[in-house]
Amino acid sequence: MSPLRMVILGRQGSGKGTQSARIADAYGTVHISTGDMLRAAVAEGTELGRRAKAIMDAGELVPDEIMNGVVAERLAKPDVVERGFLLDGFPRTPDQAEALAAICDGTDRPLTVAVNLEVPVDEVMRRMLARGRDDDTAEAIARRLELYEEQTAPLLAWFAERGLLETVDGLGTEDEVFERLRAVIDARLDRAAAG
Ligand code: ADP
Repeated sequence: MSPLRMVILGRQGSGKGTQSARIADAYGTVHISTGDMLRAAVAEGTELGRRAKAIMDAGELVPDEIMNGVVAERLAKPDVVERGFLLDGFPRTPDQAEALAAICDGTDRPLTVAVNLEVPVDEVMRRMLARGRDDDTAEAIARRLELYEEQTAPLLAWFAERGLLETVDGLGTEDEVFERLRAVIDARLDRAAAG
């Protein structure tokens, strides 16, 4: 069976990170979290980290041309070519979606599926305030949610038009949500295998 090449979309606090780790584990695919990559760059004090830190603290988006370069480079690495990928936190803007399409479309490594993990705003707000991460101030959270509606939600239609979108209900226990994700991923992988 060909490796899973997937995008996971969902509001901040939807459980994307947790579920992505489980999916990566179950399917042997490489979990690529752009937020984690950026936080690692900040911690290491690299050039990328220095440019990203203030932007992240304000809840704003790192410029597309930077993100597109970072992700393109990562997707070209041998582990990803061999095992596939689960993109978590990318694409976040229409320009990033086009960059991803330029990498995947018309190749022998097309995207398998884009999953929207659906959790209502009031619930993600509650979850994020509870997790207390450094960049989770009430203001930054509100700004990220606003940007999500503005920039990222339109990507759902973009993926739907390409026949790639699946929506999964993100409410319930971690196990329940994971089983729902598994069902849609398995169905897509079967379809891909059937050609
Ligand atoms: P959250 O889901 O809470 O926003 P992430 O870990 O996905 O957390 O991202 C943290 C921050 O990293 C974002 O607020 C943003 O500043 C930056 N970031 C992550 N991914 C991207 C991206 N694809 N484009 C632009 N900025 C990004």
